[in-house]
Amino acid sequence: MHSESDRLRAEVRVSGIVQGVGFRPFIYRTAIKHKLLGSVQNRGDAYVEIIVEGKKDSIKQFMQDLKERKPPLARIDHVTVNYTDDKMEFEKFTIIDSSKVAELSGSVIPPDVSICNQCLTEMQDPLNRRHDYFFITCTDCGPRYTIIERLPYDRQNTTMKEFQMCDFCKTEYQKPANRRFHAQTVACPKCGPKTYLATNNGHRVESEDPIREAGKLLVEGNVLAVKGYGGFHVATATTIDEPIIRLRKVKHRSEKPFAIMARNLETVRTFADVSETEAQLLTSFIKPIVLLRKRSGYYLCDQVAPGLYNIGVMLPYTGLHFMLFDGVREPAFVMTSANPPDEPIVTGNEEAVQKLGNEVDYFLFHERQIAQRCDDSVVRVQGKKVSMIRRSRGYAPAPIRLKWRARDCVLGVGGELNTTSCVLLKDKAFVSQHIGDVENLETLRFLRSATEHILQLTNSKVDVVACDLHPRFTTTKYAHDMANELGCSVSPIQHHHAHAAALATEHGLNKVIAIVCDGYGYGVDGQSWGGEIINYEAGEGSKRLAHLEEQPLVGGDLATRFPLRMAAGILSKTVNVEDLLHSNAKRFPYGEEEVALVLQQLRKGSIPKTTSCGRVLDAVSAVLGICYERTYEGEPAMKLESAAIGGKDVLELEPVVNGAVLETTPLVHEIFHSKDLYSIHDLAFSAQHYLAVGLAQIAVDEAHRLGVSTIGFSGGVAYNEQITQTMKEVVEKDRLRFVVHESMPAGDGGLSFGQAAAVASWHSGAPDDD
Ligand SMILES: [Zn+2]
Ligand SMILES: [Zn+2]
Ligand SMILES: [Zn+2]
Repeated sequence: MHSESDRLRAEVRVSGIVQGVGFRPFIYRTAIKHKLLGSVQNRGDAYVEIIVEGKKDSIKQFMQDLKERKPPLARIDHVTVNYTDDKMEFEKFTIIDSSKVAELSGSVIPPDVSICNQCLTEMQDPLNRRHDYFFITCTDCGPRYTIIERLPYDRQNTTMKEFQMCDFCKTEYQKPANRRFHAQTVACPKCGPKTYLATNNGHRVESEDPIREAGKLLVEGNVLAVKGYGGFHVATATTIDEPIIRLRKVKHRSEKPFAIMARNLETVRTFADVSETEAQLLTSFIKPIVLLRKRSGYYLCDQVAPGLYNIGVMLPYTGLHFMLFDGVREPAFVMTSANPPDEPIVTGNEEAVQKLGNEVDYFLFHERQIAQRCDDSVVRVQGKKVSMIRRSRGYAPAPIRLKWRARDCVLGVGGELNTTSCVLLKDKAFVSQHIGDVENLETLRFLRSATEHILQLTNSKVDVVACDLHPRFTTTKYAHDMANELGCSVSPIQHHHAHAAALATEHGLNKVIAIVCDGYGYGVDGQSWGGEIINYEAGEGSKRLAHLEEQPLVGGDLATRFPLRMAAGILSKTVNVEDLLHSNAKRFPYGEEEVALVLQQLRKGSIPKTTSCGRVLDAVSAVLGICYERTYEGEPAMKLESAAIGGKDVLELEPVVNGAVLETTPLVHEIFHSKDLYSIHDLAFSAQHYLAVGLAQIAVDEAHRLGVSTIGFSGGVAYNEQITQTMKEVVEKDRLRFVVHESMPAGDGGLSFGQAAAVASWHSGAPDDD
């Protein structure tokens, strides 16, 4: 007999992502393990209610397991517990069926998750029924977002609907104690989707073991398109040049780095440095692409990520990926998103043959359709902090929790490059997967469907549409179309103000001085901006406090593509650039003819100007001979950053500040004149140092003047580790707080969130805390 005092009853409410993620079966198993009686059930707005009765110690252990051993897909935001005396209400522990109403809540949609260890072990066990079954999953793992067509999350509403469960799978599906209880993706070799190989014109190739056959074809030098969860990858070996070079040629991607998928963590360590945080990310259930530093003994082909000090690496995240590596010795495969130029990632089997047939030798197909396309996510680690570069598979569309509550539902549609969309509703922001550069019909269509899908899943009614200030962006036009359809208004937000709003909102800040550096954004004055210091106040809007010196864009967009034009424009202010240009004539597509044109433009003046930080970095990159042509976004600056590794500040230039302007002309001139005196590493480092210190000092002065305690750094340049680190040191030396993005990308993937947050904060008042 128990004395009364060692028994208890606990009524627990858990909110977060706790529905449709195997949370109830987990609670059931945990309660049984600790010999507790009671019940668990899904409740309305995304919370789960648990009642347990039993021994005090057992309840304590249950609570501990609840927090520490929760299913990987679950996210616990909040737990409340009410303890009372044991009421002896139950005879066993049961899962109470949820009502449809409860499952309609938008926040239940979890992102895709990589194969779990238990499923992997089963897949590799020859005695298991699902041995070698490439799409083995359970409630803890597998695709979610990419297969859901509508809510509630039942098999009938997913692309698994075509595959009728066999009796074996059905039994597991119905048993509460089973790992596959209500796992909508449950399948086996008998009833689930199958794989097959095809030639590049779509003809089926007979094979007993198509996946391992595909692995062999890769090491033999073939290029394959491999269908995954959210779209196709184009794959090659990583230790032979020929297929990569061939792929670069057909894709017209001469330099852009390819992400790779490595066999396992030990293999990654043979060619890249991996910190503890990076190892955790690589092996996490999200399995993003992590940017890692190449090791000194790096032995993969240079062609994978030419001219860069780092490489994007991920680990296998489906059974299919693991099987690709079986029976071959390749350390890693190139695994790049399969998308035709300027189009989103390919998802349909027929579409793949049509659009990728000329790039690849073979296809590895599977039979399941993809409901939502979703690219791999890309992250990097700075210090111990994760910084998001592309927030997509594994993250989207899990909401970001705000520290305040919005009155209106605001839709942000993003900018032009690396776009996402964002539905901000109450205290949650649902940011879409990566959409891409919305410059044509294909990507606009994708933006539209992804946005409508999120609106449908969250069951929301938009009050305001927020967009960029640029009058001619495709997304701006889309915002107006949406607003017309929905009968609501449009609020344009300036590009850098949106970056600042994203940063402030992510950290729940009322006020922040944001340094925002990137390539291009349409300014309030209609000029090209990109090196800005913004004073952001939630609920008030924002103001430009200072910026980089305006520099000429010689030839407009051509100056972005050929950074030597940028350099010539800056240098021509004090030196005669004729020699420089003539001696570099071969760097221009039209040689001497083009040089003559550039010189003529310089003499004439009236050239459009920009305050872009990216363009200054580009100019330095060209002056140092690091990069003369930008073949992908950010290339000259990224290669400059790579060149600066291991360098030091040899120029010791004092930042020249003129009013509210940090001058960049003296910097580019110093670099030009010191070219033969120091190493490229040191000069690249010095240039980045000058910009970081100069901007941070202005921000510090402004923060003191305005009584703001936090300085932040946003925009694409914030991916630059050295610049970020230097700014942090300057700011913290002055006892101010320094923040960067953590859950949203610093680049334009975070714009939609910033646009929505800026608009929602006007309508809702500022958060209480500073
Ligand atoms: Zn699993
Ligand atoms: Zn089955
Ligand atoms: Zn930007």
